[in-house]
Amino acid sequence: MSIIVFAEQRGGALRKITFEVISEGKRLAAAAGDSLKVLLAGDNVSGLAEELKKFGPDEIAVANSDQLADYTTESYAGVLADYIKQENPSLVLLGHSAIGKDLAPRVAARLGAGLVSDCIKINVDGGDFSFVHPIYAGKAIATYKVNSAVKMATLRPNVFPIEEAEGAASVVDFAPEIAASRTKVKEVIQQAGDRPELTEADIICSGGRGLGGPDGFGLIEELADTLGAAVGSSRAAVDAGWRDHQAQVGQTGKVVSPNLYIACGISGAIQHLAGMGSSKCIVGINKDPEANIFNVADYGIEGDLYKVVPALIEKLKEVNG
Ligand SMILES: Cc1cc2nc3c(=O)[nH]c(=O)nc-3n(C[C@H](O)[C@H](O)[C@H](O)COP(=O)(O)OP(=O)(O)OC[C@H]3O[C@@H](n4cnc5c(N)ncnc54)[C@H](O)[C@@H]3O)c2cc1C
Repeated sequence: MSIIVFAEQRGGALRKITFEVISEGKRLAAAAGDSLKVLLAGDNVSGLAEELKKFGPDEIAVANSDQLADYTTESYAGVLADYIKQENPSLVLLGHSAIGKDLAPRVAARLGAGLVSDCIKINVDGGDFSFVHPIYAGKAIATYKVNSAVKMATLRPNVFPIEEAEGAASVVDFAPEIAASRTKVKEVIQQAGDRPELTEADIICSGGRGLGGPDGFGLIEELADTLGAAVGSSRAAVDAGWRDHQAQVGQTGKVVSPNLYIACGISGAIQHLAGMGSSKCIVGINKDPEANIFNVADYGIEGDLYKVVPALIEKLKEVNG
């Protein structure tokens, strides 16, 4: 049997999540005695296969077509579903990214495959897989078994380590018939700035209602720039119009798992924790010693963020020279 990984690329560049998913696919394939195959789809993307080889897949199938130049659910779902039908794998893995969240359910529904989304761990038990996924806003962890022959899962970004592996992947062409899509991408508007994307960032500095107004995010941005971090926000700050919804972390925002999450003026409501509770190191800065963020923080700083954050920036600049 085989395990298939969908390689996510945008604008001809592979996403970091792709390396995480392939690394986990390789680990699972070794444990289950399966081969690892990667589907790379896009327009003129053959060159990316070299980068994928570093992670030790057995085969890389490349679907090149001008109809795949921009991501559209219909055309990509068709290509991935056709590849799965051809290969009949035991498991299909995608990133739990904007594209993965859109693509996986569509393909699963087409194929009647069971899908577990936003997995933080996958176990191999005697040739079968079980899927670990946080539920109830992260308050409980559920482990699922999937009954369908083809099983699908999306993996939470920044949770699975990236590991290069030995392997001599063969690169093959995959040229399915791509039905004309009813959707056309007319324009792609990139967000300005060179900060890392929130779900892929190693470090996130987030601001909440405690900032007192939109201008407070200037300080959070300064801290983020000192650390090369992304800027996040609580929903209260988004609802107040201080920050775009793109920045919202939480149950109804983005789920992030950075190495370092600095929460400034955020109380730590359960819906916020649902989005950042799996961060490896959490720093809470809050003037209320009873704030819930201190119950999950690895480091808590009790104090006025307008005093603490500038001092932190100064110290970081001093340390960084
Ligand atoms: C269905 C549902 C979905 C939701 N989804 C989300 C979600 O996705 N993401 C999310 O974040 N929330 C979500 N919420 C809202 C959530 O319940 C909270 O209301 C929200 O997270 C609170 O945001 P906050 O921590 O910024 O504000 P508050 O709870 O008001 O906390 C502000 C904190 O700032 C501190 N503070 C004030 N001034 C300072 C200062 N000068 N220095 C230091 N600290 C200071 C205060 O002590 C306080 O702890 C959701 C709610 C519901 C019902």
